[in-house]
Amino acid sequence: MPRIRLAARALGGLALLSALVAAAAAHADFTPGAITLAVDASEAPRRLLHVAMSIPAGPGPLSLSFPKWIPGEHGPTGPLTDVAGLHLSVGDKPLAWERDLEDMYAVRVVAPAGTRAIDVAFDFLSATETGGFSGAASCTANLALLSWNQLLLYPSGRPSDGLTYSASLRLPAGWSFGTALPVERESGSEIRFAPASLTTLVDSPVLAGIHFRRVDLAPGVTPRQFLDMACDGKAGLAMTDDEIAHMRRLVAEAYALFGARHFRDYHFLLSLSDHVAHFGLEHHESSDDRSWERAWIDDDKRIASSNLLAHELTHSWNGKYRRPADLATPDYQTPMRDELLWVYEGLTQYIGFVLANRSGIRTPEQSREILARAAATLDATPGRTWRPLVDTAVEAQLLYNASDAWSSWRRGVDFYDEGVLIWLEADVTIRRLTHGARSLDDFCRKFHGGESGPPKVVPYTFDDVVRGLEEIASYDWRGFFETRLHALSPRAPIGGIEGGGWKIAYVDTMPASYKAVDAAHEHIDLLFSLGVVVNNGEKDHGLVIDVVPGSPAARAGVAPGTTLVAVNGRHWSKDVLLDAVRATREGAPLELLVDNGDFFKACKLDYRGGARYPLLARAGSGVDVLSEILRGRVKP
Ligand SMILES: [Zn+2]
Repeated sequence: MPRIRLAARALGGLALLSALVAAAAAHADFTPGAITLAVDASEAPRRLLHVAMSIPAGPGPLSLSFPKWIPGEHGPTGPLTDVAGLHLSVGDKPLAWERDLEDMYAVRVVAPAGTRAIDVAFDFLSATETGGFSGAASCTANLALLSWNQLLLYPSGRPSDGLTYSASLRLPAGWSFGTALPVERESGSEIRFAPASLTTLVDSPVLAGIHFRRVDLAPGVTPRQFLDMACDGKAGLAMTDDEIAHMRRLVAEAYALFGARHFRDYHFLLSLSDHVAHFGLEHHESSDDRSWERAWIDDDKRIASSNLLAHELTHSWNGKYRRPADLATPDYQTPMRDELLWVYEGLTQYIGFVLANRSGIRTPEQSREILARAAATLDATPGRTWRPLVDTAVEAQLLYNASDAWSSWRRGVDFYDEGVLIWLEADVTIRRLTHGARSLDDFCRKFHGGESGPPKVVPYTFDDVVRGLEEIASYDWRGFFETRLHALSPRAPIGGIEGGGWKIAYVDTMPASYKAVDAAHEHIDLLFSLGVVVNNGEKDHGLVIDVVPGSPAARAGVAPGTTLVAVNGRHWSKDVLLDAVRATREGAPLELLVDNGDFFKACKLDYRGGARYPLLARAGSGVDVLSEILRGRVKP
């Protein structure tokens, strides 16, 4: 690269450097000892973070890596292109560096005689884009979520468990913070953390902000559990007493389910902002949880994010403590294999779904509405006729970033919601086989519980999952999962819903939670009538997000990426569109005018079905197993 060669030439040593680097083992001259890491986040509101490190090293070649494969993101998502101003030196003497020609995440240097430590400085350019995970927007004028993996290099090839980092952090004046990383001392805006392994450091992000609130979720209980929140505005921190009670019950229900805890303390680190990426990222002793600024105080947004905290908490057991062996990698450069994400994420999505109800975060009616919609959406996904579920997990490292356009044909990361259906069916099956004496709770207690204590990772394989279930209820669990994972099926696996005493029914009135979720996300989801999803937000207003192949919208020529202009000759709005869909039941025509990159097209839909939304309805007079599963275990 031109810039690298200039840097080397300035020192007159390119040929020598290349020869030495090529000949050397990647980490020949890293000397064990704590790596010091000082992060200056005082310019976080400008999305600029300054890093200074000192890495103990002797003379000779050394390779340093920027973390690439980020735990919990299941892909090579380390935001390397946001590293700028990289400068390596020994004392005040600059060191020429060279990037590996194949592994962009590695840079190499040759330290001169007498070297005892290499100093590294760079800036991290925190992103402004809100699409993506921790590498996406994380800093606003009033808050910041700092992920240590973005703020350090480490000696290439060294297992993260064996490296010790002594980290410090400077925050903007007046900001408070929360983290699971033990603090050694604080003075003003400077925080010095206790030395920790690189594994623990990367697993322990810091949330900071000017509007900050901590809620004790388990007063008087050890380990301590907190909800730490930073919000762009003060008003967004106003949780109600009921919401606090639900969160306290969530941690109690999780403990009642698993019977042990694998953290010293636990911190939900909840960013409330419309200017950060929205997602959740699990850690052993904390979670990086991000939602709208008004997620607590706007009912639609509260319902739309009602899965987030229950899901991420569950990961402390399923994903962090118990982890697929192929995801328990020794460092951040070893590729991860995502095949078992239907357990890691699918079971977590199911347990999160159950705990959100047991804790009172959701009402049973909301839980059923959300389950019905997830199942019906999967059932209406023609991509399932060519891509088996397991392939959505194998390709997850790319599918997370796939376009929404044609997503029903491509399939996305369906192992989350289809995981809910499959694990619900496993739960119902255990209850049926044991006449109600056992349930998936027993599997979780045995598989994920164990001894309470500090974080550790116990890897597992598919065989371990099968064996674990067989210990709870004798059954052909291998066949059960293999069918649901590998077979192509045009219909979603709804055996758990039916075995739970319910069925999917379609109604013409939008269920309350459906309405709330669509309002929060600014979508109009007509998947079950026209087969189309339209963006109702200010930005890209009218954009057709997805069209289901074979649906009335698809047959009429509507495509993702076009923009809805008019409905039956009238400028479109949500009400105009929904009224027109309803009127098709009485035989009214439906014509959508769409703009396809400056060219207009009138699409006449052959559709008479009216409005159509999925719900769960009781099936027959069988036992309501689903309600039994969702019932809380802890006395309120
Ligand atoms: Zn997850």
